[in-house]
Amino acid sequence: MKAAVLRKIKEPLSIEEFDLPDLPCDQVHVQLAASGVCHSDWHVVKGDWPHIPTPTILGHEGAGVVQAVGDDVRGIEPGDHVVLAWKRSCGTCEMCQQGFPNLCDLPPEEVGRPVERAERQPMEKMLGLGTYSTETFVPADVVIPIDKEVPLEAAALVGCGVLTGVGAVVNTAGVEPGRSVAVFGCGGVGLNCIQGAALSGADPIIVVDIHESKLEMARQFGATDVINARQEDAVARIQAITGGGVHYAFEAVGLAGETFLQAVQSIRKRGTAVFVGHAPFDTPVALDARMLMHEKSIIGSYYGTARPHVDIPRFLHLYQTGRLKLDELVSRTYPLERVNDAFAAMGSGDVARSVLVFDG
Ligand SMILES: [Zn+2]
Ligand SMILES: [Zn+2]
Repeated sequence: MKAAVLRKIKEPLSIEEFDLPDLPCDQVHVQLAASGVCHSDWHVVKGDWPHIPTPTILGHEGAGVVQAVGDDVRGIEPGDHVVLAWKRSCGTCEMCQQGFPNLCDLPPEEVGRPVERAERQPMEKMLGLGTYSTETFVPADVVIPIDKEVPLEAAALVGCGVLTGVGAVVNTAGVEPGRSVAVFGCGGVGLNCIQGAALSGADPIIVVDIHESKLEMARQFGATDVINARQEDAVARIQAITGGGVHYAFEAVGLAGETFLQAVQSIRKRGTAVFVGHAPFDTPVALDARMLMHEKSIIGSYYGTARPHVDIPRFLHLYQTGRLKLDELVSRTYPLERVNDAFAAMGSGDVARSVLVFDG
């Protein structure tokens, strides 16, 4: 098998050859068809997330076809089309039992790692998945079978960006019809917050970004009002449109500084600011304590409060019935060998999502 490996932070990925060991009894062998290129992979490349060890095979937003299953795996068959979830869950801890498997403490699986063809060393995989590869072994609990009619290129995006963005709106915040929403940032996650708000019947849906091309996309995904924060004061404009602030604001930039504060300032009394973007670790967040006297809620959203076995088929059904946009999220596709071009496009800010597509 082939995979894109990050040897050292801030360096281009290299395409390398690997062999797979015997399939462990609790694992599923997946031939990947597509992998989204997510900002989280780029955080690792840039050195924002030093807790992810290198060298590693990047990628955590994948879909493919099951090749084989370990002896102990039930409910998944060779030939199944599947989306991979990057968060494992045990099903028995307090968070799992309360319906929050996204907060389970079960760590990524380390068994069945691919072995470098030249050096014979086992290789790490990003979040236990390593979807920038033609094949991977993953534990059965992260494998979600889907309808074979759904194109795998579109399905891959649900494994991270769509769950994170749509999930933040419909699961974490539970936005009700007719409530006002602001979304800060229109990257892959922000666009999904916008379409989650549209699905929920929110109105208005006000979107803030600094790129005109992204604000144009925002309208396609359901924004009713757009604000270029380079040209005007976003908070003042949101307060003017809504007569005092939105019910819900979603921060999907991940800067944790200015946009975090703007999100909190833009909500009305008793409003909720949801922090969706993942800032670099150890970033302090501070705000004026007066904000709290207005009984504002500030909450985090991790993996869209998703229950992947429920939400992935649910969101794909919405796609099949024309109510969730996935094809429109895919700005560009690249073969595995051009993964570094996909990162360059992400840096330039003019793509929603790039998808690596593997043949075979
Ligand atoms: Zn991701
Ligand atoms: Zn658990």
